[in-house]
Amino acid sequence: MIPGSFDYHRPESIDAAVSLLASLGDEARVVAGGHSLIPMMKLRMAVPEHLVDLQDIADLKGISVDGGTVTIGAMTTQTELIASDALATACPIIREASLQIGDPQVRNVGTIGGNVANGDPGNDMPALMQALNADYILQGSSGTRDVAARAFYEAAYFTALEEGEILSAVRFTAPPSGHGFAYEKQKRKIGDYATAAAAVVLTMSGGTCEMASIALTNVGDTPLHAEGAANAIVGTNLDEAALNTAAEVAMAITDPAEDGRGSAEFRTHVAGVMTRRAIEKAAARAS
Ligand SMILES: Cc1cc2nc3c(=O)[nH]c(=O)nc-3n(C[C@H](O)[C@H](O)[C@H](O)COP(=O)(O)OP(=O)(O)OC[C@H]3O[C@@H](n4cnc5c(N)ncnc54)[C@H](O)[C@@H]3O)c2cc1C
Repeated sequence: MIPGSFDYHRPESIDAAVSLLASLGDEARVVAGGHSLIPMMKLRMAVPEHLVDLQDIADLKGISVDGGTVTIGAMTTQTELIASDALATACPIIREASLQIGDPQVRNVGTIGGNVANGDPGNDMPALMQALNADYILQGSSGTRDVAARAFYEAAYFTALEEGEILSAVRFTAPPSGHGFAYEKQKRKIGDYATAAAAVVLTMSGGTCEMASIALTNVGDTPLHAEGAANAIVGTNLDEAALNTAAEVAMAITDPAEDGRGSAEFRTHVAGVMTRRAIEKAAARAS
């Protein structure tokens, strides 16, 4: 289908974009890579009267690893995330997860800001950001505020982003060196969204899990921070009992819809399998 008509704006600074959004009101939407928004416009599920394109705003681009703090500009594409060796050294799970998003054409234009701001529970980056305990930096006409990824998602396509705000960057503390990580995603085919996926970051010491953080993709209306599943493995040597408990606790917080990827029961089951696999892979990678 063909989208409805709209006026197109292309500001060159964050301030100009924020001013435009304030003056245009709720009929305006920002567009980043357009790989979620444009399909929705073609289906007439989104009919904005104004599109504010962020691609000329240099301040929204780039990756900085400064000491232990990682900051990624909202307009950084998934391909750029994959290409960054500094990011892969500080936080390798981002490269691993990005490589599982869509296909190269999608990753060349899809941005981290669009992926996390979209509010689609099928997007992979939100759970990853919850596992990393990232903050989102939001800029609007009344200033800048930080919102934790774990507090940002309210329901499918509803987030803490207020009218007129732009998500300018994501920021998090890099996990400790020697940490283990894994993003395990079950999908029907290359390019598909997850049937279920799990992000795990953990540290091990002398065979015991010292710290763990787990979040789940596409098994609820929002990404799910699986705090209980992480608690179930901390202090254990990841024996069978601990792994089973973690998987069960993760499954218990899911509430997936039945769709072409399977029944709700199947997708919940897959969430447990992904959680267990991701924990085992992360532990094997930890030093
Ligand atoms: C064939 C296909 C397969 C895909 N597979 C996957 C997949 O497996 N996993 C996955 O995670 N994604 C997948 N995607 C989605 C893709 O990653 C999108 O590009 C991404 O979700 C949205 O990023 P974008 O930059 O394209 O955002 P856009 O489509 O431009 O925007 C999406 C939404 O976020 C808002 N927005 C964008 N940027 C900002 C910002 N900086 N501040 C505030 N609001 C903003 C827009 O207004 C819009 O509402 C797929 C897409 C396609 C077309």
